Amino acid sequence: MENPKNCSRTGKDVSLQELKERLAEFAQVRRWDQHHSPRNLLLALVGEVGELSEIFQWKGEVEKGLPNWSCEDKEHLEEELSDVLLYLVRLADVCGLDLGQAALSKIIKNSKKYPVN
Ligand SMILES: [Mg+2]
Repeated sequence: MENPKNCSRTGKDVSLQELKERLAEFAQVRRWDQHHSPRNLLLALVGEVGELSEIFQWKGEVEKGLPNWSCEDKEHLEEELSDVLLYLVRLADVCGLDLGQAALSKIIKNSKKYPVN
């Protein structure tokens, strides 16, 4: 019998490049490119951050690993996290930026700004 709390999903590593390409194709075949301006994507991203925030709203502190959450609640969280990620990746793409490289550079910048000691 399936453990109701064991509902995590794992699989092969997914690259930002793969997400970027899949999103570009998704938009292109639906002719949504015309709507995917940087501003529209940013506003959509902010909306999705709001949906993500709603999941945690009024819950108080939540334990790491979400041990007391149902599979349904975890799936909802996965969906909203994904919406945020996908709009972020798409926004970077239409701005002509390499989000992966930018994020690596930012980590390096932060490590200099906040040295270990
Ligand atoms: Mg959403």
